[in-house]
Amino acid sequence: MKAMILKSVIDLENNTEPLEMSDLPKPIPAGNEVLLKVVACGICHTELDEIEGRTPPPRYPVVPGHQVIGIIESTGNGVTTLTKGARVGVAWIFSACGRCSFCLTGYENLCSGFVATGRDVNGGYAEYMTVPESYAFPIPGVFTNSQAAPLLCAGAVGYRAVKLSGLKNGSNIGLTGFGASAHIVLQIVKYRYPGSKVFVFARHENERAFAKELGAFWTGDSTDDVPDQLDCIIDTTPAWKPVVEALKNLKPGGSLIINAIRKEETDKNQLLNLDFSEHLWKEKQIRSVANVTRKDVSEFLRLASEIPILPEFREYKLEQANTALLEMKKGKIRGAKVLVMD
Ligand SMILES: [Zn+2]
Ligand SMILES: [Zn+2]
Repeated sequence: MKAMILKSVIDLENNTEPLEMSDLPKPIPAGNEVLLKVVACGICHTELDEIEGRTPPPRYPVVPGHQVIGIIESTGNGVTTLTKGARVGVAWIFSACGRCSFCLTGYENLCSGFVATGRDVNGGYAEYMTVPESYAFPIPGVFTNSQAAPLLCAGAVGYRAVKLSGLKNGSNIGLTGFGASAHIVLQIVKYRYPGSKVFVFARHENERAFAKELGAFWTGDSTDDVPDQLDCIIDTTPAWKPVVEALKNLKPGGSLIINAIRKEETDKNQLLNLDFSEHLWKEKQIRSVANVTRKDVSEFLRLASEIPILPEFREYKLEQANTALLEMKKGKIRGAKVLVMD
């Protein structure tokens, strides 16, 4: 089968072709697994973190991709609930141990045995992949393949971030960065919290215009003064400056939720601008979002089909994965990017 593979950590400044097209054997599903013919796979900023070594794969080569839509082509002997022909999705959570204190209390996202799709095992930048039956999510019919793919990470992790933010209807929320995840979060907030105003902080004018189109109350750069202080802010940028700026804009007792698997090192010195009384005093909180649980994904898919959330996307062929990743690196984003298979 055709697959785009990553063979080592790569510096994207010097190498603009991080993934290589290759011919891999078609995977065979184990007893509890299904074999998917991949039809679409969303592109996530985490792929850049894998490529550039901030969250490196434990083994090479690896097929990236963790927002996978596929049609079940065959099933292992032990599969009982899914059948051939069904359309399912695969998210960042490929599996967890199921026995530890985290798994047993609804925090399988924090399991030390957490296995990530497209990093720890092969993902969806390929014609086929396998996944355990209990980690495959039926996809509601309201979505096309390309609409559904970004829901599996950008959407589901964004949904988890909204839950962790403690947002209440009527409270104001800020979003720093306006990529695939934030544009879905904005739609969740408009639907679930109609009395809340959404403030969007984004570097590029086109991102701010897009946020306005989707119903943002206010848009500006991360350094602009906001008309109101905010109850919570979700940060989806790879940088540190927006974190410092966001803390300044929080109300007393407000929460900053950082939705990023890793931060880049380039502007880390911005943290030296942290002023205790301005940025942290008065019980301001900082919390990260780590991974995602199956419950987050299923709940979010249900909510997204009810609203419905139809993500904006741009399609690329499998062999154009490097182009799409480089565009993401440069910040050329309107909504989500999706690989579609022939
Ligand atoms: Zn992701
Ligand atoms: Zn566990």
